[in-house]
Amino acid sequence: MSFDVAAVRAQFPILNREVNGKPLVYLDNAATTQKPQCVIDALVDYYSTCNSNVHRGAHKLADEATRRYEGARDIVAGFINASAREEVIWTSGTTESINIITHGIAQQLKAGDEVVVTEMEHHANLVTWQQACKQAGAALKVIPISDLGELDLESYKAALNEKTRIVAFPHVSNALGTLNPIADLTRWAKDAGALVAIDGAQGIAHGAIDVQALGCDFYSFSAHKLFGPTGMGVLWGRKELLAEWPVWKTGGEMIATVTYQDATWNELPYRLEAGTPNIADAIAMGVAIEWFQSLDQDGLKQHEAKLLARATELAEDFEGLTIIGNAKDKVGVLSFVMDSGHPADIGFLLDKQGIAIRTGHHCAEPLMGRLNVPGTARASFSIYNTLDEVEQLFTALKKVRMMLE
Ligand code: PMP
Repeated sequence: MSFDVAAVRAQFPILNREVNGKPLVYLDNAATTQKPQCVIDALVDYYSTCNSNVHRGAHKLADEATRRYEGARDIVAGFINASAREEVIWTSGTTESINIITHGIAQQLKAGDEVVVTEMEHHANLVTWQQACKQAGAALKVIPISDLGELDLESYKAALNEKTRIVAFPHVSNALGTLNPIADLTRWAKDAGALVAIDGAQGIAHGAIDVQALGCDFYSFSAHKLFGPTGMGVLWGRKELLAEWPVWKTGGEMIATVTYQDATWNELPYRLEAGTPNIADAIAMGVAIEWFQSLDQDGLKQHEAKLLARATELAEDFEGLTIIGNAKDKVGVLSFVMDSGHPADIGFLLDKQGIAIRTGHHCAEPLMGRLNVPGTARASFSIYNTLDEVEQLFTALKKVRMMLE
């Protein structure tokens, strides 16, 4: 049975709207995905029926809210196959998750240590490590990529040694769509005795992962790129590490005991979750994951691959257009530049035709420098996009080319 894209689309109310008098063609999914009705309903239902603070309350609503909220943690733990639910730490998103990891590692970093990242990092997984290294006097090693946008695996292996404290890399590059061989990258780094932190912001929406099978130490992701709400995310980390982790925010919930002069810390996951949490969005994230898991996973992967293959074919035949990022393994991201105009103009003129893409440096400024482009135009596909929308993009791009020339 083929993947029923019409049935999936029907669950996303926003896809019915018009933009500039044209039906919306939403191709900015790497920035954020749209939300199915069940996720929207989960937010409304929580606030309409059981809004309350979690853990502390001595009443029915607090109990219900706590059960839903902690239930969502179980859903996440199952989705990524965490060995324990307390390894799932709620955060505001990938950026915050990576900052918590960096904060923990930064306290142990010293001059002479090395941290390894790649040329394809999003700023969230670069600036954090760069600043930690600067403060500690540690070296930041940046692994090169090829012109196709693939990581240079020989340089990666050569960079690992007994001084490597941690290796951080993206599961998928947001700017290029490159799908990295994360299992190999993890194994090589672990063999060298380094910790491994995977930026899963873009990888997570392309199928469930198994953190235990991968053998990494940390995996970070955001709900909003996985059909869930904004302002919500997860830091998954091995409990042996997180249990010893320096607390990074202090306040309510994260303490065990407090005197005027001192405090002791709560157990995982609460020791890393100070204050009233983002209850409604955690619950909605759980709903988004269950919804995503209910779909035919092979079917959706094949559907995405078809969208990318057709878009690539049309792009290769399009005069004056150059694809940026031609890795052999890619997800549904088509980054490109055109001879006729700047990416910002392309984005503006597509929007006039109802087509939403992203333009600019995609929070990967050094990568744009490496690839010698000021920025790119990026169309990114999700499971609700259709082959017809891919055709519409290129019909619209022909108009853009005419207008710019
Ligand atoms: N890493 C990558 C690869 C991303 O694409 C993004 C989001 N664009 C982030 C990190 C940061 O995610 P968030 O803004 O949700 O914290």
